[in-house]
Amino acid sequence: MSTALTPAQRAELGALLIARMATLEEEIAAQEGAGGRVAAAAELLDDSREGGVQREADREVALQRTSQAHGELQRVRDALDRLESPGFGLCSACGEAIGMPRLQAKPWTRHCVACERQMELGQPTPPRL
Ligand SMILES: [Zn+2]
Repeated sequence: MSTALTPAQRAELGALLIARMATLEEEIAAQEGAGGRVAAAAELLDDSREGGVQREADREVALQRTSQAHGELQRVRDALDRLESPGFGLCSACGEAIGMPRLQAKPWTRHCVACERQMELGQPTPPRL
């Protein structure tokens, strides 16, 4: 299988992924920090020290808010893991090159535009033989 990307293109996408990862980690840290402050405030107000359930609920809310960022962070990390593999930049459904403009916009994507559109329509893509 030929590689779809030049080393320079891989390096560019790697830089994009690392920048995105840093942004997401900052977002998650800020959100989790805010949740932590809510929990600390609840503890201060709780003289009986039986507010564990409420603190747990606050924490749940904070976790839900960060779960989307966590999901994207996971996709970015997966993409970084795949960056040096020959298949990076190739659609995992049809094997065609995803294309540099699409990769620059979404470096973590695993599918070309055509396959992603088909998946959004709920039609599985038959493997190309
Ligand atoms: Zn495809």
